[in-house]
Amino acid sequence: MAIHNSSHHPPQAASQDPSTTDAGNEFPIAIIGSGFSGIGAAVQLKKAGIESFTIFERAGEIGGTWRDNTYPGAACDVPSHVYSYSSEPNPDWSSKFACASEIQAYLLRIVEKYDLRPHLRLNAPITSAAFNELEGAWTLEVADGRRFRARAVVAAMGGLIDPSYPDIDGVESFAGQSIHTARWNHDYELGGKRVAVIGTGASAIQVIPAIAGKVAKLSVFQRTPAWVLPRGEKSIRAQTKARYRRYPFLMRLVRWSQFLFSELMGPLIMLNAPRLSRVAESACEKHLENSVASPELRAKLHPDFQFGCKRILISDDYLSTFERDNVELVTDGIREINRSGIVTNDGALHEVDAIVYATGFDVAITHAPIAIKGLGGLDISAAWRDGAEAYKGIVVAGFPNWFVTMGPNTGPGHTSVLIYTEAQIRYIVQAIRKLIAQDIRYMTVRRDVQDRYNARLQGRMKYTVWESGCKSWYLSEDGKNHALYPGFASEYRARIRRVTMSDFDITHFEHA
Ligand code: NAP
Repeated sequence: MAIHNSSHHPPQAASQDPSTTDAGNEFPIAIIGSGFSGIGAAVQLKKAGIESFTIFERAGEIGGTWRDNTYPGAACDVPSHVYSYSSEPNPDWSSKFACASEIQAYLLRIVEKYDLRPHLRLNAPITSAAFNELEGAWTLEVADGRRFRARAVVAAMGGLIDPSYPDIDGVESFAGQSIHTARWNHDYELGGKRVAVIGTGASAIQVIPAIAGKVAKLSVFQRTPAWVLPRGEKSIRAQTKARYRRYPFLMRLVRWSQFLFSELMGPLIMLNAPRLSRVAESACEKHLENSVASPELRAKLHPDFQFGCKRILISDDYLSTFERDNVELVTDGIREINRSGIVTNDGALHEVDAIVYATGFDVAITHAPIAIKGLGGLDISAAWRDGAEAYKGIVVAGFPNWFVTMGPNTGPGHTSVLIYTEAQIRYIVQAIRKLIAQDIRYMTVRRDVQDRYNARLQGRMKYTVWESGCKSWYLSEDGKNHALYPGFASEYRARIRRVTMSDFDITHFEHA
């Protein structure tokens, strides 16, 4: 059933509480977050004929990850044709792996194409949400005190949004420039400076080669070396782009071949099968050998955990950067940071002008990033005391009409996250259509259904390489993986193709 509203301008419609504004007309829907998931959800709602939604964005512009990560070299290490919306292929991707600004420009184009600006509320960080059973509606509170009412919420807040700074003594005392990769300071000129980079994860391996050529000296502080595969970066020729424009099905073909390839590689990346892992490890070792001449340096850059246990990194030029005269790899642990630089465990002081923190994120995938109170005032932090759980990663028992994208156990270990989020969005739009069409006050997933789903999921987890003994952001403190999906993306998509109403407790409005 298509729902049309007289206006697509968000909201002044009435709610029971006069201090609260509806997040849309007729059936107000709130989308929290305007990254790939939030924008994708808005587009699909529009395509379903539902216009009564408002997108709340905490920052001053849309884009999420691709707005926030602007460090030199920032790019996506997933091929662009599979890292785009399936319904919005882009013939103009400049290379196999697009850079951050190009992806952000793509998202901005989608916003204009679907006329989403009138639905957007920028600089509107939602701080809390509470469910009202009688109204079958959520009240969302913005940091400035404004309140909005929504019959359904799409929580598209992302998993890796808040930068994490390391817990190192003296971090505050450093007198030079401190920059986190996810909050780059473009006003600070790195050229000619002595720079330290802390961390050697996915962000670090992009920023290190990008800045090595311009700084006077680069000291890379590595705690754990990573397995690095070559990226095989290729720019896309003008002829190919023209062909894509002329025959759009070619882009679909490329997308599907990239997706199929990643699915075929899935077992190699996910399974705790040391012999299989050795195949990939040998490829990484060959890349290391081709990139670094010194055996001592190679030994320092060689990981000692099983391939896939931490996120796999791909780069053509990261390892070879250590061949430069102005780049040093520091493997003594960090003891402290002082006014002038970094002191390592061997007592050496590495004096620097700037410290780049490539130290990752506070992972929001294992806990809710805002205060949420569901049925009977149930607090999300209480519900998730033993770790974040959801049914199919999308709905949570006790939190009716609340739909999550990139929720617990939906992260991909081996392919594009968009394969997952697009399927989640389809599920969510289906559920919202049912809420509207069947005049449902609220639907909440049954606890037994959610528990069974998660017991099976965690049962499968023990066969994955993620639980093979290394430390990674995939695992919560108790060692449980609440982040990734232990299976093929195609299997996950098949699982969430349809909303099965018998999975939910349904409460209708009582009409006189
Ligand atoms: P990350 O993978 O969490 O890496 C953080 C790095 O900082 C690690 O090397 C870590 O060492 C190090 N570190 C943290 N605290 C430290 C300390 N006290 N002392 C020394 N080193 C410390 O963060 P990230 O590189 O930003 O990547 C996070 C995620 O973002 C990735 O896994 C990926 O999902 C996503 N990402 C994606 C792309 C892409 O191209 N698609 C690019 C960048 C990021 P340990 O390993 O020892 O903990």
